[in-house]
Amino acid sequence: MKWIQIKDVDDYALSRTETPNFKLNEFYNASTPNQEFSYPRPLIYAVQIFRDWICDAVFITSTYREFSVGAHKERLAIDFVSSQSFTTKFHNSVMNWILKEESSLIYKLRESGITGFGLEPFCIHLDCGDYGFDKRIHHQDSFGTYTAFEWNGVDVNRSI
Ligand SMILES: [Zn+2]
Repeated sequence: MKWIQIKDVDDYALSRTETPNFKLNEFYNASTPNQEFSYPRPLIYAVQIFRDWICDAVFITSTYREFSVGAHKERLAIDFVSSQSFTTKFHNSVMNWILKEESSLIYKLRESGITGFGLEPFCIHLDCGDYGFDKRIHHQDSFGTYTAFEWNGVDVNRSI
């Protein structure tokens, strides 16, 4: 997996053809710690894939969280928000994918290296964690193992 150095610079440090809608500091500002960090390229592509799918604004709300647990602490996750209707469409696309129905969005996300799909009421969580050791329910597709879960509002992710 290729890693990108995330900095607080107001510039397109990434290729405009690969991530035309996001600047490097959008990933930096979404994080709590005031420091540079390396971040997986698949997550940067993933948010662009989603943005291309909806043809509308996407706001990154969380990337690396130093004092968190799980994928955000490991720098392997991203949270973002879009409109409620697109959030619902995303949820439906994940559920359909689990049921082996086609979804161009989920196909592209899986192809890019996304392995975790978090369905939360008002945001979308994607990650590229290694779920080979995770106890949650796994699903299989042509790209390998992935997982989907939803936040229950307390302290536990419920597998889907
Ligand atoms: Zn998250």
